[in-house]
Amino acid sequence: MSKAVEIEINKKEIFKHKLKGENAYHALREINQARLILRSAETEIVRSVWPEYNGLWHHLGDWKCTGPVGVCVYDHFEDPPHDHCLFCGDPEERK
Ligand SMILES: [Zn+2]
Repeated sequence: MSKAVEIEINKKEIFKHKLKGENAYHALREINQARLILRSAETEIVRSVWPEYNGLWHHLGDWKCTGPVGVCVYDHFEDPPHDHCLFCGDPEERK
């Protein structure tokens, strides 16, 4: 089963829980599970273009970037305020 299919199933589960008016606990558990799947899918995609990627200390920004990942990447340990993209040098916060 592909990750995208798994995520789709999780979304349906969350919706089902909402419809049944069940305890929010179940819905939150499903959301957390979907987040984990999304994170690992994201890691797979990024590592396929940039094998050095490590989700523990690399932070993916939202800005388009000229680097291999396509979005800005910050080293969260070396640069906690995300002032310097590893590829283009731009900060995460832009006016
Ligand atoms: Zn960048």
